[in-house]
Amino acid sequence: MFGVMMNYPLTLAQILEHAHRIHGDKQVHTLLPNGKVHTYNYDTLDRRVKQLANAITTLGIRSGDSVATFASNTYQHLEICCAVPYAGAIIHPLNVRLAPTQLAKIVEEANDKLIFVDRACVEQFSKLQQKIDCKHIVFFNIDTGQNENRTNLSIEYEQFISEADNNYISDIQDENWAMALCYTSGTSGEPKGVLYTHRSMFLHTLAVNQADVFGLTESDVVMPLVPMYHAMGWGLPYASMFAGAEIVLANANHTHIVDLIAETGVTVAAGVPTIWARLLPELQKRKQEITSLRRLIVGGEPMPPTLIEAYEKELRVEVRHAWGMTEMSPTGTFSTLRKAHQNLSDAEKTDIKAMQGRPIPGVQVRLVSENDVELPWDGKTIGELQVRSPWTARTYYKNTSTAEHFTTDGWLRTGDLATINAEGYMQIVDRAKAIIRSGGESISSVALETALLKHPSVNDAAVVGVSDKKWGERPLAVVVITSQTDEDISEILKQHLATEFPKFWIPDKFVVVDEIPKTGVGKTDKHAILQML
Ligand code: AMP
Repeated sequence: MFGVMMNYPLTLAQILEHAHRIHGDKQVHTLLPNGKVHTYNYDTLDRRVKQLANAITTLGIRSGDSVATFASNTYQHLEICCAVPYAGAIIHPLNVRLAPTQLAKIVEEANDKLIFVDRACVEQFSKLQQKIDCKHIVFFNIDTGQNENRTNLSIEYEQFISEADNNYISDIQDENWAMALCYTSGTSGEPKGVLYTHRSMFLHTLAVNQADVFGLTESDVVMPLVPMYHAMGWGLPYASMFAGAEIVLANANHTHIVDLIAETGVTVAAGVPTIWARLLPELQKRKQEITSLRRLIVGGEPMPPTLIEAYEKELRVEVRHAWGMTEMSPTGTFSTLRKAHQNLSDAEKTDIKAMQGRPIPGVQVRLVSENDVELPWDGKTIGELQVRSPWTARTYYKNTSTAEHFTTDGWLRTGDLATINAEGYMQIVDRAKAIIRSGGESISSVALETALLKHPSVNDAAVVGVSDKKWGERPLAVVVITSQTDEDISEILKQHLATEFPKFWIPDKFVVVDEIPKTGVGKTDKHAILQML
């Protein structure tokens, strides 16, 4: 028998309309490339979102169409990430750090009908533009003074929206409609699309806004130093809007980040550990100016205990360490202390915070052995972490071979090796997947190995992740070469890889060996390589 409650559709439109009606005066700040701060409020955001929804509809974009962005974090990018799903279409933020060849494949698979390009990224975009066939391109952000490669198909953003009406009634007919598309490396090389639904994003937003997760309130000023292509900025812009918090948008590499924190009174900031390690010295120097900052949300790779201590003890900023995946919208676990931990020493508390944490309500986790036997939560036994939740993908976009990634009983195989203790705290100990994490970005060792093996001087190749103070991990290549040469083989191979991959993927070091260690079944033995190194 069914209950009698309303079948209220869980869509992004509810989030946007709530932000506008209840928190219309709340501000959105953007750090512009020239160092100035642009500010407007949710009412203006709402008006421009509706104009943009009308404008893209006039251009012929329909529900189910994919609309890409190639942009950094700005108010225009936020408007696009709201307006496209509001109009029933799919927002697809492209990872501006990928190589043009990788991006071209993604644009083709997603079948992007329209691309919004931030002028700050126009140089990289021009390399991609030559390789794709996209009908409409809209450029925005007039302050950089750069010249873009204009074609007769390109449109100017402000003109595009100013001609559109600001009355728009969203007509999302089903909460299970697709609303956003983000690509990830998954557990192996080829980029895979994760197609979020309105329902999954709505539920993720409610889940992360709980007190023991992001814990955002109406009094917060939230700065996500997370690009939108990383699972919609870890869902932080939508979560901030639903909570009624102010939003501060900036490019993490901007030289004025600390000025921005001081000027806008940021209370909660989010980003990968590499960013917080880089900003620490300046934040320490300007401690008196950043007293508003109360919490960091950190994830994407392990947060080192020393860095947690530096923020918590010296700067009095609480660190909340999270684990997640693009496939999980992305939030899975969060490391907050329990009441029972109150009397522990500071060092013991830091050790708990450095773990990846407990599943947030709504997420289920389990550890399994290689033969899919469930393992105990004893803090010692290592197994593959498997997860499920209403905001976890059940398959990849246009990808039919899913047995490698999803179990028959409906769990996602994360490719992360972990322990879970009796209190439910999960700790990542290794990665079963062939992915190297550098500065919060994924690098596929399989893709690099395949490319190296195509070079005529290479007989065998393996790429491993070695730990790095600044980036967390960096790729290192081990190669067996066909014959000794006087030329610098590292340089030759670097140039060879640079034709296919972005700069940050290129291994820092190439080690020439006589033979690459193999396991009993003939697979490359990466643990033996790391020991050998
Ligand atoms: P992505 O889909 O790009 O967000 O990458 C997800 C992967 O990043 C996870 O499967 C982990 O391997 C890694 N990861 C994310 N957060 C953490 C964390 N806090 N500690 C260690 N690894 C992490």
